Amino acid sequence: GMSRSRKPGWLKTRPPSGREFADIRETLRDHDLHTVCEEANCPNLGECWSGGEGGSEGGTATFMLMGDRCSRGCNFCDVETGGMEALDPDEPENVAEAVAEIGLDYVVLTSVDRDDLPDQGAGHFAETIREIKARHPGILVEVLIPDFRGEEELVEKIVEADPDVIAHNVETVSRLQTPVRDRRAGYEQSLSVLEYVDRVSEIYTKTSIMLGHGEYDHEVYRTLADCREAGVDVVTLGQYLRPSESHLPVRRYDHPGKYETWRRVAEEELGFLYCASGPMVRSSYRAGELFVEAVLR
Ligand code: SF4
Ligand code: SF4
Repeated sequence: GMSRSRKPGWLKTRPPSGREFADIRETLRDHDLHTVCEEANCPNLGECWSGGEGGSEGGTATFMLMGDRCSRGCNFCDVETGGMEALDPDEPENVAEAVAEIGLDYVVLTSVDRDDLPDQGAGHFAETIREIKARHPGILVEVLIPDFRGEEELVEKIVEADPDVIAHNVETVSRLQTPVRDRRAGYEQSLSVLEYVDRVSEIYTKTSIMLGHGEYDHEVYRTLADCREAGVDVVTLGQYLRPSESHLPVRRYDHPGKYETWRRVAEEELGFLYCASGPMVRSSYRAGELFVEAVLR
């Protein structure tokens, strides 16, 4: 491991720029929509929105649904807890219009957790998928869903809306679920969501693991193996970065070489369809390009 105090030099960010970026941002403002890419100041924004190097592939963007306040409070996450507001009934349509207007090829939908709603927001999530597919039939839709407390009939609502990828993050190894995640989340519960999707559908499944919370290698390996056993197709690994002093401290910064090793283990030994792994990788990192490369070619 490395010293814990300073961020190493490979965690550098390149600010987004260019016409395309400004256009997309304007469309989002017009529709009063928020992307995780912007809100979280994601360092990959330039790369994702432009669709990578040449920009010819069309971009990926991640929309956050159902507000900017979460019913849960995970200790790694910067989203505000509590003070939940009513759902915006126009949001599904609004997101769909913006996606069509921007001309994205791949969209990622994620959300806060809505334990305050009777269906925990599953219906709203499903409706957004349907609206997008209706307006823009060729688009690929990835959803990063809450655990819905493991309630299968709620996960089923998402499955029925037929997105191309269903992601749900285990976030960290079994031993560190507490204190990293909200107490209502859990390792087995998250695996059961992924396992359910795998069992009842042909939809690709995906999960993400943060490194840097003090996990051991054998625990990371176990987590990857457990996810694979649950039928997960795609995994991403990235460095945890502390959003503020009131969040969990970073226990370790792993070298990029270590991430490359995990990628090989995941793809070559455990048989994941693909693994995006690197210090700056996030769940939706270049999701469109990588998915198309791994699955459709
Ligand atoms: Fe947006 Fe995800 Fe790409 Fe970051 S990694 S810019 S959040 S799509
Ligand atoms: Fe953040 Fe998701 Fe946890 Fe809510 S459930 S606090 S959005 S990580």
